[in-house]
Amino acid sequence: MKIISNPLALKEHLKDIDKTVGFVPTMGALHEGHIALIKRAKEENEVVVVSIFVNPTQFLAGEDLEKYPKKDEADKKICKLAGVDVLFFPNASDIYTQDEVKICAPNVRGYVLEGATRPGHFSGVLRVVMKLLNIVSPTRAYFGKKDAQQLNLIGLMVKQFFMSVEIVPVDIVRDSDGLALSSRNIYLSNEERKEALKIPKSLYIASQLIGKNIVHTQKIKKAMLEVLAPLSIEYVEVLNRDFEVIKEVEVGNTVILVEVIVGKTRLLDNIWL
Ligand code: AMP
Repeated sequence: MKIISNPLALKEHLKDIDKTVGFVPTMGALHEGHIALIKRAKEENEVVVVSIFVNPTQFLAGEDLEKYPKKDEADKKICKLAGVDVLFFPNASDIYTQDEVKICAPNVRGYVLEGATRPGHFSGVLRVVMKLLNIVSPTRAYFGKKDAQQLNLIGLMVKQFFMSVEIVPVDIVRDSDGLALSSRNIYLSNEERKEALKIPKSLYIASQLIGKNIVHTQKIKKAMLEVLAPLSIEYVEVLNRDFEVIKEVEVGNTVILVEVIVGKTRLLDNIWL
Protein backbone atom coordinates (compact mmCIF):
# COMPACT_ATOMS: atom_id res chain seq x y z
CA MET A 1 0.00 0.00 0.00
CA LYS A 2 1.29 3.41 -0.99
CA ILE A 3 0.77 6.31 1.43
CA ILE A 4 0.67 9.76 -0.18
CA SER A 5 0.00 13.10 1.49
CA ASN A 6 0.53 15.53 -1.37
CA PRO A 7 -2.49 16.03 -3.68
CA LEU A 8 -0.38 16.66 -6.79
CA ALA A 9 1.77 13.59 -6.05
CA LEU A 10 -1.42 11.53 -5.81
CA LYS A 11 -2.73 12.96 -9.08
CA GLU A 12 0.60 12.12 -10.72
CA HIS A 13 0.52 8.59 -9.29
CA LEU A 14 -2.98 7.95 -10.69
CA LYS A 15 -2.50 9.90 -13.95
CA ASP A 16 -1.83 7.16 -16.47
CA ILE A 17 -3.64 4.42 -14.64
CA ASP A 18 -5.80 2.63 -17.16
CA LYS A 19 -7.93 0.93 -14.52
CA THR A 20 -11.18 1.53 -12.67
CA VAL A 21 -10.62 3.43 -9.43
CA GLY A 22 -12.85 3.13 -6.37
CA PHE A 23 -12.54 5.92 -3.81
CA VAL A 24 -13.56 5.89 -0.13
CA PRO A 25 -13.26 9.26 1.65
CA THR A 26 -13.13 9.05 5.47
CA MET A 27 -12.11 11.04 8.54
CA GLY A 28 -10.27 8.05 10.02
CA ALA A 29 -10.81 6.19 13.32
CA LEU A 30 -11.86 3.42 10.98
CA HIS A 31 -14.44 0.81 11.95
CA GLU A 32 -16.47 -1.93 10.24
CA GLY A 33 -18.68 0.69 8.58
CA HIS A 34 -15.68 2.14 6.75
CA ILE A 35 -14.42 -1.36 5.99
CA ALA A 36 -17.75 -2.22 4.32
CA LEU A 37 -17.21 0.75 1.98
CA ILE A 38 -13.66 -0.38 1.22
CA LYS A 39 -14.78 -3.99 0.56
CA ARG A 40 -17.47 -2.80 -1.82
CA ALA A 41 -14.95 -0.56 -3.60
CA LYS A 42 -12.59 -3.53 -3.95
CA GLU A 43 -15.32 -5.73 -5.40
CA GLU A 44 -16.23 -3.17 -8.04
CA ASN A 45 -12.88 -1.60 -9.01
CA GLU A 46 -9.34 -2.58 -9.94
CA VAL A 47 -7.67 0.05 -7.75
CA VAL A 48 -8.91 1.32 -4.36
CA VAL A 49 -7.96 4.69 -2.88
CA VAL A 50 -8.93 5.64 0.69
CA SER A 51 -8.49 9.12 2.12
CA ILE A 52 -8.16 9.95 5.80
CA PHE A 53 -8.64 13.64 6.44
CA VAL A 54 -10.37 15.28 9.39
CA ASN A 55 -11.80 18.15 7.38
CA PRO A 56 -11.73 21.36 9.45
CA THR A 57 -14.21 23.26 7.26
CA GLN A 58 -17.10 20.95 8.12
CA PHE A 59 -16.78 21.53 11.87
CA LEU A 60 -18.55 24.53 13.37
CA ALA A 61 -16.91 26.64 16.08
CA GLY A 62 -17.18 24.79 19.39
CA GLU A 63 -17.60 21.36 17.79
CA ASP A 64 -15.26 18.40 18.36
CA LEU A 65 -12.59 19.12 15.70
CA GLU A 66 -9.74 19.24 18.24
CA LYS A 67 -10.74 16.05 19.99
CA TYR A 68 -12.04 14.09 16.99
CA PRO A 69 -10.66 10.54 17.48
CA LYS A 70 -7.30 9.96 15.79
CA LYS A 71 -5.97 6.44 15.26
CA ASP A 72 -3.46 6.95 12.47
CA GLU A 73 -1.32 3.85 12.95
CA ALA A 74 -4.27 1.48 13.50
CA ASP A 75 -6.01 3.03 10.47
CA LYS A 76 -2.97 2.40 8.26
CA LYS A 77 -2.93 -1.26 9.35
CA ILE A 78 -6.67 -1.63 8.72
CA CYS A 79 -6.30 -0.16 5.23
CA LYS A 80 -3.37 -2.43 4.43
CA LEU A 81 -5.23 -5.52 5.66
CA ALA A 82 -8.32 -4.50 3.71
CA GLY A 83 -6.27 -4.44 0.52
CA VAL A 84 -6.27 -0.67 -0.08
CA ASP A 85 -3.86 0.29 -2.87
CA VAL A 86 -3.34 3.95 -2.04
CA LEU A 87 -3.94 5.78 1.23
CA PHE A 88 -4.26 9.54 0.83
CA PHE A 89 -3.29 11.14 4.14
CA PRO A 90 -3.05 14.91 3.64
CA ASN A 91 -2.65 17.74 6.16
CA ALA A 92 -5.03 20.69 6.17
CA SER A 93 -2.33 22.82 4.49
CA ASP A 94 -2.16 20.29 1.60
CA ILE A 95 -5.87 20.81 0.95
CA TYR A 96 -6.62 24.44 1.81
CA THR A 97 -5.03 27.83 1.14
CA GLN A 98 -6.11 31.38 1.97
CA ASP A 99 -9.04 33.17 0.28
CA GLU A 100 -10.37 30.25 -1.70
CA VAL A 101 -13.03 29.70 -4.32
CA LYS A 102 -15.84 27.99 -2.43
CA ILE A 103 -18.81 25.81 -3.16
CA CYS A 104 -21.94 26.33 -1.02
CA ALA A 105 -24.54 23.84 0.12
CA PRO A 106 -27.98 24.60 -1.37
CA ASN A 107 -30.01 27.14 0.62
CA VAL A 108 -32.86 24.76 1.42
CA ARG A 109 -31.61 21.19 1.30
CA GLY A 110 -28.30 22.11 2.94
CA TYR A 111 -29.96 23.90 5.87
CA VAL A 112 -32.62 21.45 7.04
CA LEU A 113 -32.18 18.44 9.35
CA GLU A 114 -28.49 18.24 10.31
CA GLY A 115 -27.91 21.43 8.32
CA ALA A 116 -30.35 23.28 10.59
CA THR A 117 -28.47 22.34 13.76
CA ARG A 118 -25.07 22.69 12.06
CA PRO A 119 -25.46 25.64 9.64
CA GLY A 120 -22.56 25.65 7.18
CA HIS A 121 -21.55 22.05 7.92
CA PHE A 122 -22.59 20.80 4.49
CA SER A 123 -20.79 23.62 2.66
CA GLY A 124 -17.61 22.33 4.31
CA VAL A 125 -18.47 18.75 3.38
CA LEU A 126 -19.14 19.61 -0.26
CA ARG A 127 -16.03 21.76 -0.43
CA VAL A 128 -13.75 18.93 0.67
CA VAL A 129 -15.55 16.23 -1.30
CA MET A 130 -15.27 18.32 -4.48
CA LYS A 131 -11.53 18.71 -3.87
CA LEU A 132 -11.02 15.03 -3.04
CA LEU A 133 -12.97 13.87 -6.11
CA ASN A 134 -10.93 16.21 -8.31
CA ILE A 135 -7.67 14.94 -6.84
CA VAL A 136 -8.51 11.23 -7.19
CA SER A 137 -10.76 11.36 -10.30
CA PRO A 138 -12.30 8.01 -9.34
CA THR A 139 -14.60 5.88 -11.44
CA ARG A 140 -16.81 5.37 -8.37
CA ALA A 141 -16.91 6.96 -4.91
CA TYR A 142 -18.45 5.19 -1.91
CA PHE A 143 -20.52 6.88 0.81
CA GLY A 144 -22.47 5.41 3.74
CA LYS A 145 -26.24 5.67 3.95
CA LYS A 146 -25.75 6.49 7.63
CA ASP A 147 -25.01 10.06 6.58
CA ALA A 148 -28.10 10.16 4.39
CA GLN A 149 -28.30 13.94 3.96
CA GLN A 150 -24.60 14.11 3.11
CA LEU A 151 -25.08 11.35 0.54
CA ASN A 152 -28.05 13.19 -0.96
CA LEU A 153 -26.18 16.52 -1.21
CA ILE A 154 -23.09 14.90 -2.73
CA GLY A 155 -25.37 13.27 -5.31
CA LEU A 156 -26.85 16.70 -6.11
CA MET A 157 -23.40 18.29 -6.39
CA VAL A 158 -22.14 15.60 -8.77
CA LYS A 159 -25.25 15.93 -10.92
CA GLN A 160 -25.44 19.72 -10.93
CA PHE A 161 -21.72 20.19 -11.58
CA PHE A 162 -21.74 17.51 -14.31
CA MET A 163 -19.00 15.57 -12.55
CA SER A 164 -17.87 12.25 -14.02
CA VAL A 165 -18.07 9.95 -11.03
CA GLU A 166 -20.60 7.36 -9.93
CA ILE A 167 -21.71 7.83 -6.32
CA VAL A 168 -22.34 4.45 -4.68
CA PRO A 169 -24.46 4.35 -1.48
CA VAL A 170 -23.52 1.64 1.03
CA ASP A 171 -25.84 0.17 3.70
CA ILE A 172 -25.41 1.07 7.37
CA VAL A 173 -23.25 -1.30 9.42
CA ARG A 174 -24.46 -1.77 13.01
CA ASP A 175 -22.99 -3.18 16.19
CA SER A 176 -24.50 -6.43 17.51
CA ASP A 177 -26.78 -4.37 19.81
CA GLY A 178 -28.18 -2.43 16.83
CA LEU A 179 -26.35 0.88 17.30
CA ALA A 180 -25.05 2.24 13.99
CA LEU A 181 -21.25 2.23 14.01
CA SER A 182 -19.69 5.68 14.22
CA SER A 183 -16.23 6.98 15.05
CA ARG A 184 -17.98 9.15 17.65
CA ASN A 185 -19.44 6.15 19.56
CA ILE A 186 -16.23 6.02 21.62
CA TYR A 187 -17.32 9.28 23.31
CA LEU A 188 -20.28 7.43 24.90
CA SER A 189 -20.14 6.21 28.51
CA ASN A 190 -21.69 2.78 29.22
CA GLU A 191 -24.82 4.48 30.48
CA GLU A 192 -25.05 6.76 27.44
CA ARG A 193 -24.56 3.84 25.11
CA LYS A 194 -27.55 2.08 26.66
CA GLU A 195 -29.59 5.25 26.18
CA ALA A 196 -28.40 5.48 22.57
CA LEU A 197 -30.01 2.11 21.82
CA LYS A 198 -33.34 3.95 21.85
CA ILE A 199 -32.35 5.24 18.41
CA PRO A 200 -32.33 1.88 16.55
CA LYS A 201 -35.31 0.85 18.69
CA SER A 202 -37.31 3.85 17.44
CA LEU A 203 -36.49 2.93 13.83
CA TYR A 204 -37.46 -0.67 14.51
CA ILE A 205 -40.82 0.49 15.91
CA ALA A 206 -41.32 2.58 12.76
CA SER A 207 -40.63 -0.38 10.50
CA GLN A 208 -43.03 -2.53 12.56
CA LEU A 209 -45.81 0.02 12.18
CA ILE A 210 -45.22 0.20 8.44
CA GLY A 211 -45.27 -3.63 8.37
CA LYS A 212 -48.78 -3.35 9.88
CA ASN A 213 -49.70 -0.92 7.12
CA ILE A 214 -49.66 2.14 9.37
CA VAL A 215 -48.10 4.53 6.88
CA HIS A 216 -49.21 7.96 8.10
CA THR A 217 -45.98 9.81 8.80
CA GLN A 218 -47.36 11.78 11.78
CA LYS A 219 -48.34 8.52 13.51
CA ILE A 220 -44.93 7.04 12.82
CA LYS A 221 -43.14 10.13 14.11
CA LYS A 222 -45.29 10.19 17.25
CA ALA A 223 -44.46 6.54 18.05
CA MET A 224 -40.76 7.18 17.45
CA LEU A 225 -40.73 10.31 19.62
CA GLU A 226 -42.29 8.31 22.47
CA VAL A 227 -39.39 5.83 22.34
CA LEU A 228 -36.78 8.60 22.05
CA ALA A 229 -38.47 10.96 24.54
CA PRO A 230 -35.84 11.16 27.29
CA LEU A 231 -33.07 11.95 24.81
CA SER A 232 -32.25 15.37 23.41
CA ILE A 233 -33.90 15.02 20.00
CA GLU A 234 -32.61 17.18 17.15
CA TYR A 235 -35.09 15.80 14.63
CA VAL A 236 -37.16 12.81 13.58
CA GLU A 237 -38.29 13.03 9.96
CA VAL A 238 -40.02 10.83 7.42
CA LEU A 239 -39.08 11.97 3.91
CA ASN A 240 -39.02 10.68 0.39
CA ARG A 241 -35.66 9.86 -1.21
CA ASP A 242 -35.49 13.40 -2.60
CA PHE A 243 -35.69 14.58 1.01
CA GLU A 244 -39.15 16.08 0.61
CA VAL A 245 -41.76 15.92 3.37
CA ILE A 246 -44.43 13.27 2.72
CA LYS A 247 -47.76 12.51 4.41
CA GLU A 248 -47.61 8.76 3.92
CA VAL A 249 -44.73 6.33 3.63
CA GLU A 250 -44.10 5.25 0.04
CA VAL A 251 -42.33 1.91 0.28
CA GLY A 252 -39.31 2.00 -2.05
CA ASN A 253 -39.08 5.80 -1.81
CA THR A 254 -38.84 6.69 1.88
CA VAL A 255 -36.12 7.45 4.38
CA ILE A 256 -36.75 7.87 8.13
CA LEU A 257 -34.07 9.94 9.81
CA VAL A 258 -33.14 10.53 13.44
CA GLU A 259 -30.57 12.77 15.05
CA VAL A 260 -30.20 12.93 18.82
CA ILE A 261 -27.60 14.18 21.24
CA VAL A 262 -26.66 11.62 23.90
CA GLY A 263 -24.56 13.27 26.59
CA LYS A 264 -22.53 15.55 24.34
CA THR A 265 -22.42 13.18 21.40
CA ARG A 266 -24.40 13.77 18.21
CA LEU A 267 -25.72 10.48 16.80
CA LEU A 268 -27.36 9.95 13.42
CA ASP A 269 -29.31 6.98 12.19
CA ASN A 270 -31.91 6.20 9.55
CA ILE A 271 -33.69 3.48 7.64
CA TRP A 272 -34.45 3.34 3.95
CA LEU A 273 -37.78 1.79 3.07
P1 AMP B 1 -16.60 9.42 8.44
O1 AMP B 1 -15.20 8.91 8.64
O2 AMP B 1 -17.45 9.33 9.67
O3 AMP B 1 -16.63 10.77 7.77
O4 AMP B 1 -17.29 8.42 7.42
C1 AMP B 1 -16.71 8.12 6.18
C2 AMP B 1 -17.72 7.37 5.36
O5 AMP B 1 -18.08 6.17 6.04
C3 AMP B 1 -19.01 8.16 5.12
O6 AMP B 1 -19.44 7.94 3.79
C4 AMP B 1 -19.95 7.55 6.12
O7 AMP B 1 -21.31 7.64 5.74
C5 AMP B 1 -19.49 6.10 6.12
N1 AMP B 1 -19.90 5.43 7.34
C6 AMP B 1 -19.68 5.83 8.62
N2 AMP B 1 -20.27 4.98 9.50
C7 AMP B 1 -20.88 4.03 8.75
C8 AMP B 1 -21.68 2.89 9.08
N3 AMP B 1 -21.94 2.54 10.33
N4 AMP B 1 -22.13 2.14 8.05
C9 AMP B 1 -21.87 2.47 6.76
N5 AMP B 1 -21.13 3.54 6.40
C10 AMP B 1 -20.65 4.32 7.37
